[in-house]
Amino acid sequence: MRRADYYWSLLTQKESVKEMRVLGCQSYISDLWKNTNTKLHERLWQQEKKSAIVTTICDVVKLLGYGISVCLTLVLVFYGKIGLNVFAATVSAVSSMQNTTRNFMEMMGEVPEMLDLANNYYRFMELREEADGVLKTNGRYREISLKHISFAYPDSKVKALCNVDLEIHAGEKIAIVGENGSGKTTLSKIILGAYPADSGDILWNGVPYSQISRNSFYRYISIVPQDYVKYYLTLRENVGISQVENMDEDEKIWKVLKQGDMDVFSSLEEQLGSEYGGRELSGGQWQKMAIARGLFRDSELIVLDEPTSALDPMIETEILENFLKLSAGKTALIISHRIGICHLMDRVLVMKQGELVESGSHEELLQQNGEYARLYRAQADWYQ
Ligand code: ADP
Repeated sequence: MRRADYYWSLLTQKESVKEMRVLGCQSYISDLWKNTNTKLHERLWQQEKKSAIVTTICDVVKLLGYGISVCLTLVLVFYGKIGLNVFAATVSAVSSMQNTTRNFMEMMGEVPEMLDLANNYYRFMELREEADGVLKTNGRYREISLKHISFAYPDSKVKALCNVDLEIHAGEKIAIVGENGSGKTTLSKIILGAYPADSGDILWNGVPYSQISRNSFYRYISIVPQDYVKYYLTLRENVGISQVENMDEDEKIWKVLKQGDMDVFSSLEEQLGSEYGGRELSGGQWQKMAIARGLFRDSELIVLDEPTSALDPMIETEILENFLKLSAGKTALIISHRIGICHLMDRVLVMKQGELVESGSHEELLQQNGEYARLYRAQADWYQ
């Protein structure tokens, strides 16, 4: 059913419809939807059929039983064994017993379906609950330390992170670079405590993450994820939603919009997104909006995951320069497969096949003439 719903959403949502029209694959997806629906209806039909057969058998048995009981009691009346009053009581008792039996049999017919549901329920109940620590994060953020961290996604034989050692000190501006699939996002998720490492320790101001309460930890963190949300809300809400209690601070909202090159609006009450008759933004503008939202939150550590992939390289550098100015005093972690901003950062971490292979400043890494220098040479033309 979920699969059919998914195909249906592809056929009806704006973004996918636009792409599919150009690619000409609407009828292909529509066939997938029809086939899935046909299979689904076949299964439902089988289940309905089973329960209808049970009901019909019950009805036949009921009628037969009723007929036989009435005949028997009539015979007893005929031979004077019972009176008419007992006859009436017997017929009524038989009738009520049959209704009860019928209900019971119908319920038995539903058992296979109920077993399926119960199975889902128990599978859900058996899932391990996310562990949460009890300690509150103590004072300001000083450092995060990763010691021999390894991590593999469930059902994956390959490690997405392999023996990573790293320290991130307060106020540092760090870029994590590497090719697609090298483990940058996974590393950021481990740092944000979204995934528990399979082995190794991760500490916040010397305290293991597992002992810290998630909510007290998140108070210090802001994030601009790769798959950011397009909120079809007002401009004010789009920025202020990262810190709802300060949403009415117009000056602060305008400030982050300006820094994010997004001061093209006349009112904070402007509705965004054409879905509800508002102003539609380009992909790059939505991305800048997500950055403004991340900056609006008073955090000590901000993580940007591929924050400017929809922007061209020159605009990217301009926005990230502004971002670094605005995040002065904060710790910033920028994940990118593009290296254009690395010369502005205190440190660059280079990931390759899940390993942290190089760490140092832009100049140091160029001198090492390793993976970073290779990426730099491959991308140098973009920034001429
Ligand atoms: P990057 O951010 O450098 O592009 P990722 O950290 O997203 O790389 O991915 C690292 C590796 O982990 C890749 O091989 C990718 O296929 C795998 N991976 C990423 N996300 C998942 C996931 N949710 N489930 C299984 N494997 C994943």
